[in-house]
Amino acid sequence: MSAIDLHARPSTDFGAKLFETSSLLRRAAAEFSPVTQASSLGAEDVVITHLINAQQLNVPVFVLDTGVLHPQTLDLLERTRAVSRAPVTVYRPVQESVIHFVGREGDDAMYRSIELRKACCCIRKLEPLERALAGQKAWITGLRREQSAARAEVPLVDDSELARNGRSKINPLANWTWGDVWHYIQQNRVDYNPLHDQFFPSIGCAPCTRAISLGEDFRAGRWWWEDEAAKECGLHVKNEEKVAA
Ligand code: SF4
Repeated sequence: MSAIDLHARPSTDFGAKLFETSSLLRRAAAEFSPVTQASSLGAEDVVITHLINAQQLNVPVFVLDTGVLHPQTLDLLERTRAVSRAPVTVYRPVQESVIHFVGREGDDAMYRSIELRKACCCIRKLEPLERALAGQKAWITGLRREQSAARAEVPLVDDSELARNGRSKINPLANWTWGDVWHYIQQNRVDYNPLHDQFFPSIGCAPCTRAISLGEDFRAGRWWWEDEAAKECGLHVKNEEKVAA
């Protein structure tokens, strides 16, 4: 059974949500330029990229290739780059930093402590993210309120970091359910990561992502060996928390 078969169940107000999302993306392109989409190539992000392309918006896309992504994700990246009207740029970690960290701590450092896991995320994700966002007035993410307790208050436009870094974060799918996401994918025949058909709702780096069982929490497959409260990689935590991390 595919992820579409399992999940494509639109909300009764899906049409209104889609209108809200499409309008917000147009507004982002017009009012927040330069703006870029951060794509993990997960289900939410392929929906957003599809909407950007369908509306021919001047919003480039970037992907962080951490060096330890699943082959299925890398294949989807290549397919996306081949068909996307919006340019798709790939940012990778500084190789010397990766070699130094892995040489010192090993390939499995992330399982030994939260500090080492966050150090790995810092090298493979946060530093490339800062490069990708340099000079941007805003970035677009696939965060949804339904994804986790930590994301329950996600606003459509998040200006909470504006004073610190001059950037807004735009979350056009904040109100969407998982069923809405898959309904859009089904209706528009959007290409997606086949790992979603193997019970991976949330897809990240291969060492830190596993399939979940039916009934398990949406993010149970990410950093499953850690407490729930620690389960963010730093991409979406506020500055004071990031410093502590
Ligand atoms: S998710 Fe895992 S492998 Fe990826 S950067 Fe973070 S700790 Fe490293």
